[in-house]
Amino acid sequence: MAAQIVPFIVLILAIMLMLLVARRAKHSHFECPECGCAFKIPVAAYMVSFHAMGKREVTCPGCGYRGFLPPISDDES
Ligand SMILES: [Zn+2]
Repeated sequence: MAAQIVPFIVLILAIMLMLLVARRAKHSHFECPECGCAFKIPVAAYMVSFHAMGKREVTCPGCGYRGFLPPISDDES
């Protein structure tokens, strides 16, 4: 019985994690070090973007700069 419920729990956790990431994506932005523009990326792009050490690989829509930038919470600025 217990073994049957494990995949279900994993699924719930995965959905919760996705919702959490989606919420964070909606309320964060990035600032380009090259041109200084602040921009947001779509939630879907945020989810699939490569990330390491809390930073995400994003492309600046203003100048095309591509690099690892830390997401900045909208509330902080
Ligand atoms: Zn830029």
